[in-house]
Amino acid sequence: MSKALQAIRGMNDCLPNETGIWQMVEAVLRRVASNYGFAEIRMPIVESTALFKRSIGEVTDIVEKEMYTFEDRNGDSLTLRPEGTASCVRAGNQHGLLYNQEQRLWYMGPMFRHERPQKGRYRQFHQFGLEAFGIATPDIDAEIIMLTSRLWRELGINEFVTLELNSLGSNEERAKYRDALVIFLTEKEHLLDEDSKRRMHTNPLRVLDSKNPDVQAALVGAPKLADYFGEESSEHFTSVCQRLDAAGIKYVVNDRLVRGLDYYNRTVFEWVTSSLGAQGTICAGGRYDGLVEQLGGKSTPGFGFALGIERLVLMLTSLEKANNIRAQVDAYVIMLGNDVEITANGLAEQWRDQVPDIRLQCHCGGGNMKKQMKRADKSGAQIALILGEDEIAQKTVTVKYLRGQQEQQSIPLEQVPSLLTNLL
Ligand code: ATP
Ligand code: MG
Repeated sequence: MSKALQAIRGMNDCLPNETGIWQMVEAVLRRVASNYGFAEIRMPIVESTALFKRSIGEVTDIVEKEMYTFEDRNGDSLTLRPEGTASCVRAGNQHGLLYNQEQRLWYMGPMFRHERPQKGRYRQFHQFGLEAFGIATPDIDAEIIMLTSRLWRELGINEFVTLELNSLGSNEERAKYRDALVIFLTEKEHLLDEDSKRRMHTNPLRVLDSKNPDVQAALVGAPKLADYFGEESSEHFTSVCQRLDAAGIKYVVNDRLVRGLDYYNRTVFEWVTSSLGAQGTICAGGRYDGLVEQLGGKSTPGFGFALGIERLVLMLTSLEKANNIRAQVDAYVIMLGNDVEITANGLAEQWRDQVPDIRLQCHCGGGNMKKQMKRADKSGAQIALILGEDEIAQKTVTVKYLRGQQEQQSIPLEQVPSLLTNLL
């Protein structure tokens, strides 16, 4: 026998006992996005490498070490998308959706990053992302953060997440701050780790969100970005905060939150949890007013976020919020005898016509009552509908309740549709 093939490390199958919770999460995401006026967009999974280099930034973890990049048969450099914003902007530019218009878009699907696989961190993972284009005012920043907050409430995890908020100011303000920060970091260079020493020259703001506690200690007394803000940036951030206050959304201002991608300006935010260990960020985003132009479009403001679906699923599972997910099957049809099967299958087809949402599984492969009951139980169905020769002759069906104490009963065939409707 040849060796069984395995999936690629860090790329997971989602098995039938897990797809229920995924579908539930995806349904909430879709519904809430559409409740706020966002429409779905679907982009390809492969894009030209240049797209991600130009948008995410050359000196970022993603571009430096995480991308799945390859040459195709024409010698073009292609990359499996590591995130969705760049592709969304590319698509918007390409199809003329952005300039002088307002667009509210969402997407969902697999992303690829070559990271060290561990709990909550995979090489193929799934994001839900949402982007608003053409709105420069702080109202959309606050509204999108409110939308994320609603997601946690709908999923029942709002008590377990915290909102961190910061502003990165404008590009000019950040450039001035960058100079001051480099002077500070140069004085502290002997206290920095190798990564931070390198970043100090290539992308000094990233030193601020180093996860190394020694680096964090060395940063005490570092200049503050907010001190370099002009009136507009200050007012923008204040307005976002006021709107969140008014909506009763709690947040912590974290002035070291800079985000790992280069394209952000002004508002940035992250939702974090302590219930996932090291992989504590479930959702992150912010404003990116320069990105559309950077990718060759006409200047258009943008604001968006992405969340990791695996991390949400892990949270829901560990908090036991996923226990009441409906089984795949509502009712299971048991048929006893060869002649009965033909009639029973016809009846099942009628019931599917009459109750289109019912999930009805017909037994296949014959066998006695005991065997069929076992299958019915395993299917997760609420009830078994038993059809034997007697039932067919009397135009009845025997109903056996599989999940409660209720007594078995015999009902006329015409009552089956209403019985099934009650299961929905
Ligand atoms: P982290 O700091 O955990 O590496 P990130 O800043 O790289 O996160 P983003 O690029 O902002 O993450 O992506 C948004 C969200 O996507 C994250 O908050 C997380 O929930 C999810 N995510 C990112 N990378 C992975 C991964 N490798 N596996 C699973 N989920 C991920
Ligand atoms: Mg990362």
